[in-house]
Amino acid sequence: MRPLAGRLDLCSINTATLGHSTPIDHVIDDVARAGFGGICPWRRDLMDVDVVKTARHIRDAGLKVSGYCRSTYLPAATEAGLRASVEDNRRAIDQAATLGAQCFVMVVGSLPAGSRDLALARAQVTEGVEKLIERARSAGVRLALEPLHPMYAGDRSCLNTIDQALKLAETLEPDPEPAPTLGVALDVYHVWWDPNLAAAVSRAGTSRRLFAFHVCDWLVPTRDLLMDRGMMGDGVIDIPHIRRLVEATGYEGFVEVEIFSETNWWRKDASVTLATCAERLQTVC
Ligand code: ZN
Repeated sequence: MRPLAGRLDLCSINTATLGHSTPIDHVIDDVARAGFGGICPWRRDLMDVDVVKTARHIRDAGLKVSGYCRSTYLPAATEAGLRASVEDNRRAIDQAATLGAQCFVMVVGSLPAGSRDLALARAQVTEGVEKLIERARSAGVRLALEPLHPMYAGDRSCLNTIDQALKLAETLEPDPEPAPTLGVALDVYHVWWDPNLAAAVSRAGTSRRLFAFHVCDWLVPTRDLLMDRGMMGDGVIDIPHIRRLVEATGYEGFVEVEIFSETNWWRKDASVTLATCAERLQTVC
């Protein structure tokens, strides 16, 4: 496993970690100044800016783009809704290409309001992702399907395990040459509990479909399903164990910090959060 001490150049900051409270230009400068090698911006950070200029700013700051977050949910109550979502995701893929992002992170969505038809939601995800592959391939952007913890199966994602995400990738892209366009983003928060984790990570790596690795921690108790992620080292996830599994497959990408924490880390000054991320990455990850 790669030592991270003195190697923040291998580490990236997902901008959600800083709470989306300051303009992206400040965030870029803060992350670069703190010594990190990468950044993963969210679409919402780029709503009112020129993406070409932002891409240049990131490059000039010496940062790489470890990913671009994230897709619009695919399942919809109507066919037109699904088509609109696919179109919106195509625009996001183009932005990911402009940014030079190493992948476009896909949180696929689940039941549309009022629906109980999980099978239909999954079918729409399959159909939607299939419609995005060509655009992604021609833009040179890899699609990283991010399985989410099953507590989000009702709304945010009907993809809940690495195996499920891999199966979708392998079904839609059985023979990826020269390299896969469809793969997975592995976030310790979503997969740490999976009894099949080691085999699934190994399968993802062997098929060259491990595109991103996100870290944070699982707090006990967790007080909010979305907004109470912990800083690495403050919870119960054996992060070095999972990183060892990931890097044993030959993964050489970034270790990306992604922490949603409305009542704690988002209230702190960005410099404090970034310094803590830096220290924890080098000591407990
Ligand atoms: Zn993530």
